[in-house]
Amino acid sequence: MSIIVQKFGGTSVATTEKILSAARKAIKAQQDGHQVVMVVSAMGKNTDTLVSLAHELMDRPPAREMDMLLSTGEQVSVALTAMAIVSLGHKAVSLTGAQIGIRTNNAFGKARIISISTDRMQKLLDDGNIVIAAGFQGIDEDFNITTLGRGGSDTTAVSLAAVLGANCEIYTDVDGVYTADPRVVKTARKVSHTSYDEMLELASLGAGVMHSRSIEFAKKFNVPVHVRNSQVDNEGTLISTVTEDPSRGVSGAAITLDEARITLTGVPNKPGSSNAIFSSIAQANITVDMIVQDAGADGLSNISFTVPSSDLAPTLEAVQPIGEQLDIQSISHRDNVSKISVVGIGMAQQSGVSDRMFRALAENDINIHMITTSQIKISVLVDRDQAMNAIYAVHNTFELDRTNPEAVPAESQQAKADVDPAAAANELQGLEELSITDVSLDTTQATISIQGVADTPGIAATIFEKVAQENIVVDMIIQSYLDQTDIASLSFTVDRQDVERTLAAINAMKNDVPFQHVASNPAVAKLSVSGIGLRSHTGVAIRMFESLAEAGLNIEMINTSEVRVNVVVDDSQGADGLKALNKAFADVMPSAG
Ligand code: ADP
Ligand code: ASP
Ligand code: MG
Repeated sequence: MSIIVQKFGGTSVATTEKILSAARKAIKAQQDGHQVVMVVSAMGKNTDTLVSLAHELMDRPPAREMDMLLSTGEQVSVALTAMAIVSLGHKAVSLTGAQIGIRTNNAFGKARIISISTDRMQKLLDDGNIVIAAGFQGIDEDFNITTLGRGGSDTTAVSLAAVLGANCEIYTDVDGVYTADPRVVKTARKVSHTSYDEMLELASLGAGVMHSRSIEFAKKFNVPVHVRNSQVDNEGTLISTVTEDPSRGVSGAAITLDEARITLTGVPNKPGSSNAIFSSIAQANITVDMIVQDAGADGLSNISFTVPSSDLAPTLEAVQPIGEQLDIQSISHRDNVSKISVVGIGMAQQSGVSDRMFRALAENDINIHMITTSQIKISVLVDRDQAMNAIYAVHNTFELDRTNPEAVPAESQQAKADVDPAAAANELQGLEELSITDVSLDTTQATISIQGVADTPGIAATIFEKVAQENIVVDMIIQSYLDQTDIASLSFTVDRQDVERTLAAINAMKNDVPFQHVASNPAVAKLSVSGIGLRSHTGVAIRMFESLAEAGLNIEMINTSEVRVNVVVDDSQGADGLKALNKAFADVMPSAG
């Protein structure tokens, strides 16, 4: 008999009335011939209320006690949901994370699932029960209650679906996945399909509709996830290997309002610098977001990165001693910035996406402080007071509010669809382990660095429009900016064959876009590590930097995303770098063949 996992978020179980309506959905699915597991979140804003209670007592409550407290929210909902089903004349049993056998590590507040046992659930289902599982919680090896991080019930639901070989339905307070947060962008449109890769990027870039780790699971075990409105019987959004409109360069936009940027200038260009900096931040348990290192001049480089605003103080504490150790020139920061991103699986096949984004921002007089790109996303950092304008500008320019009547949803290019769900169901150990799909070396690219560009709106737009007009395809783009000077530097990679044409195009712009100098380096190699959940496994970039440092490689440019970390190194070292990375990630890569 087929199994369905139905997850109901906080607003969908906020009152007993709503709990009854959730119960009816589950009963209906059972009557349609399925076995049903419900996963429920805490009622309404109950988790927030519990957090506030704790903070009335202390600023930094002990993590273990916090998990003990927060897990109670879900315990209330599972019991009430079971009662609702029984009151409607059907059989139901509620289970806590511990009772289901969701074993996690002991990282309180952000625990990772180690294993799930299906026996008890399966027996209850076979006995005709609807099983109601508490979302967001598990138990460590010492029987301490743990939680998976805010929004973690999605991860409970998708991981249960993975081990039960079930379909997964996520019931929430909006109709599905939109082109941007519908509460922020009034013109946002619900999409019919979105691919795992797009959703992974969007979720990690601030689209809170799905917990990003749940999408890692879904992708890894090929679980189709149907996001739907709990109050209205609409078709929602199917998250799978299929994308809605493969002809679109951009399919969604996201905003992360509270970011802080830290810039280290004059970092010696030598093996191990990035490793030293980012390991010390990782040790402080801080997840770094955008990382940008540009190919600086005079053997020195600049490294900028962002962290959530709330992590600014501890991050500065962590980097200060490393800065002194490496003898860097300065550390500066800015706390009032926001990140605006666009995502699209079609971006990899199209040129001219980035300059459209930059132009839209320029037309609205929005200055870009930092740029990072990956194959399927572009993120820019802007002043927080311009963030709302920026997301509207971007949403409009890519006409995300409009449906393309000719679009035919199709398999996305990047998704890997060859996972056997039945095999996944048996793979209980190490569910959340890192999985790297590919380590690669690309020696076809050259870097172009434009130094000393005035930091004013429109510069990036003008440069990339010109380059696009010349039909030159730009790959990695990074821009960083130095507070003290109001001067930015812009680096990107192009095909080696296009270097001369790119330089000529840029030099021809000297009057429109004043800059100090432009340099090219054709002798570079790009090393990439691709996989699932690279950013939530902070260790990936570190492992990468560490192994390259050990092999004596100097990293010239860095660029990160949820599915790939790229670094640019000297051409002569590409092969050594590839070897080092293959070795460093051997334990988490599928074996050859
Ligand atoms: P739940 O309690 O059901 O888990 P959440 O509040 O976690 O609900 O997630 C749903 C919310 O996600 C929506 O109310 C919406 O404001 C927000 N959201 C952010 N980005 C998007 C997006 N791209 N599509 C849909 N909703 C989004
Ligand atoms: N109740 C938890 C939270 O509010 C988990 C969840 O809702 O997904 O974060
Ligand atoms: Mg949620």
